[in-house]
Amino acid sequence: MTQQVCTQCGNKHVIIHRKYNGQHLCSNCFKKSIEKQVLKTIKKEKLITKGDKVLVGLSGGKDSVCLLTILNILKEKNIITLEAVTIDEGIIGYRDQGVRIATETANKLGIKHHIVSFKDKYNFTLDRIMEEEYKQDKPQHACTYCGVFRRQIFNHVALEIGATKIATGHNLDDESQSILMNYVEGNINNMIRIGYKTEAKDERFTPKIKPLRKIPEKEIGLYVLESGFEVHFDGCPYAGDSFRMEIGDFIREKTVNHPTMMYSILNGFEKIKPAIKKDYMQHHTGQANGTCKRCGDPATQDICKACQFLDNIHEKIGE
Ligand code: SF4
Ligand code: ZN
Ligand code: ZN
Repeated sequence: MTQQVCTQCGNKHVIIHRKYNGQHLCSNCFKKSIEKQVLKTIKKEKLITKGDKVLVGLSGGKDSVCLLTILNILKEKNIITLEAVTIDEGIIGYRDQGVRIATETANKLGIKHHIVSFKDKYNFTLDRIMEEEYKQDKPQHACTYCGVFRRQIFNHVALEIGATKIATGHNLDDESQSILMNYVEGNINNMIRIGYKTEAKDERFTPKIKPLRKIPEKEIGLYVLESGFEVHFDGCPYAGDSFRMEIGDFIREKTVNHPTMMYSILNGFEKIKPAIKKDYMQHHTGQANGTCKRCGDPATQDICKACQFLDNIHEKIGE
């Protein structure tokens, strides 16, 4: 059997074989190819313009560490300014490690780092909410609360620091799952919002961008390890949006024999999206852009989702 060498430089120490394009790459060429791909996506999709202040959601997981490392290249070239925020939801045994790794990563790269906890912001942890929730007949899923509060914190920090973009570490696996999930559920309203730039319902929200959208999850993990960063791979104990997991398993299983499948899901969707969006928008007028009477955030109802949840939780917890 002939020994495989790096397709780019001939180095004998190959660390990855990309079945979807036949490349064999050494560590150096692999890392460069990831950086090149992400920077190309940023340019092609016009995700960042010179002078942007980018706020990265840094959980300490592999995706956000990879994202921060690559965006740091643009910071070092003085194209953008960069800050990071870590949200501590208060999930015992899970988030502590993420916060530590996030802090170390930001320090190592010299990036200003904010940590905001649910406890400080709302006066309860996610664990406390769920303790109460599990006493109910039909408990809400943790991600329902978590998602709404996290979104509010991101938006508030972005406003406070004057960020012009919020960058998140969604990867190719996440995106192909979201696309397929919404197809199968027939959720066109959600589907047309999936994109490189998340189109917020209200322009008072800072635009969100996803520069890692074309990179498979496995390669992000490898990039972070090869770059010498510590990453925690543990999943959140509340994770278990079972339908998303089923779709994820289906895609992974099919990718074994069809290595380009995640790319075709993404690229095919991007091609038909403008047509679906145009048609959908003609039949569905947008919701009015109001303001939450309680907190002043943009909202489609009198009271925003976060304030509605807060009322609900305070009532249950009795604090
Ligand atoms: Fe929050 Fe759900 Fe993510 Fe856990 S899996 S951090 S509960 S959104
Ligand atoms: Zn090489
Ligand atoms: Zn509100």
